[in-house]
Amino acid sequence: MENRLKDTYNPGNFNSIGHELIDLLTKYLKDSTEGNIPVMNWKEPSDQLKFWKDFTLENNNPIELFKAIIDNSIHIHHPKYMGHQLCPPAPISALTGLLGELINNGMAIYEMGAAATAIEKVIIDLLAKKIGYDDNGDGYITSGGTIGNLTAMLAARQNAVDSDIWEDGLTENLGVMVSSEAHYSVDRALRIMGFGSKGIIKIPVGDNFSIRTELLDQYYKQAEKNGVKVIAVVGCAPSTSTGMYDDLVAIGNFCKQKELWFHVDGAHGGGAIFSKKYKHLLSGIEKADSVVIDGHKMLMTPALLTFVMFRQKEVSYSTFSQKAQYLWEKNQDEEWFNMARRTIECTKLMMSIKFYSILITQGEEVFDQSVTHLYDLGKEFAKKIKERDNFELALEPDSNIVCFRFIKPGVTGVDVDNLNSKIRSKLLKDGEFYIVQTILNDRVYLRTTLINPFTNSQILDELLDEIERLGGN
Ligand SMILES: *Cc1c(COP(=O)(O)O)cnc(C)c1O
Repeated sequence: MENRLKDTYNPGNFNSIGHELIDLLTKYLKDSTEGNIPVMNWKEPSDQLKFWKDFTLENNNPIELFKAIIDNSIHIHHPKYMGHQLCPPAPISALTGLLGELINNGMAIYEMGAAATAIEKVIIDLLAKKIGYDDNGDGYITSGGTIGNLTAMLAARQNAVDSDIWEDGLTENLGVMVSSEAHYSVDRALRIMGFGSKGIIKIPVGDNFSIRTELLDQYYKQAEKNGVKVIAVVGCAPSTSTGMYDDLVAIGNFCKQKELWFHVDGAHGGGAIFSKKYKHLLSGIEKADSVVIDGHKMLMTPALLTFVMFRQKEVSYSTFSQKAQYLWEKNQDEEWFNMARRTIECTKLMMSIKFYSILITQGEEVFDQSVTHLYDLGKEFAKKIKERDNFELALEPDSNIVCFRFIKPGVTGVDVDNLNSKIRSKLLKDGEFYIVQTILNDRVYLRTTLINPFTNSQILDELLDEIERLGGN
């Protein structure tokens, strides 16, 4: 073997660098959870690019590289990280990820991922039970909520259409009804599938930003008039911007009545099935034909890890097969252990082990504790916002997503929007807090996702103090 190759795969190098990396990551974990480093060292994109173009190693020591990557990345474990929905992963889950990356089983067929495939089945059975499916519930893990939603929409289409779409392509105008507040991945999935604008039927939301279910019938009839065959309704659990849950019971009833596919996009908050206190928000989910839940949002795993669940086992096998072929296969053993027949991926990461390592070491109570704690924190933060004169809460939160804005006497209209945008941009560049912004009813709001168990009451007070300071009050 050539020297470079030998050196690259040398177990001794792996061991020494690995120990140093663990030491470095331990320091990162301690410093970030204790808030001893900034949540982010902001660099303009062009400066970041220049930094990496010019980057070299002294003495060929990769630890310098690892340090530079950490320094130039956002620190998700920092208690003042409260912007997007990506969670600070449980360290055990990240370690399991390292294991998976090194042994690199590809999961497409059984022998290329024997352990991870069987573990996936164990977890899927647990999720099906938690959702409230009977023994026929099934599913699999896929690479992200976006692909999960696409997969579920493909299943809905396969279910609704009598012709053989895999053979003949689309032969009629199909449509899906979804809240105007739904995540853009649903829209994207339907466009990928060739539904076009006409096939994406957006239903308005009410004051609480959840879908107005009393309008479903009217929009359904209008779509029919326009020559669009509605095949499914999507419920948000919750929607991304405001974190508000749709009424899944009402959507489920409507779907049953019209014989439509019922999909729940629980990418963010489907994990609340583990919370004794908050699982009521998901009432009706057990009637859903398909459900998407991200592990990397509320369930403490690194990205990506997404559950796509089906009420009927058969569907989890038929999504990517031609009708005729499926009928033929139906009599055969369904081979749960050959994953690639069922998922959009061929090669797939060993995602299951990252969830399982948390489950097996901490038990499922840890997911209850995490979701319940963070949703409680959302309510506490809303209360603090309402108590301050210079703030306006957008709406009472259902979850850990809280939207609000800074207000001040004499500043009105678009100036309030500009002021809030300026505050958010200043926060980003200062690097002390990380929050984001969103548009609600055409106005700019600050948006937080309280997704870090180290975020606490005092830090929320500090955030509001800092916003007041930046807003000049
Ligand atoms: C985050 C999110 C998605 C997209 O999931 P990814 O894992 O980021 O691809 C879809 N739907 C909702 C409601 C989300 O919050």
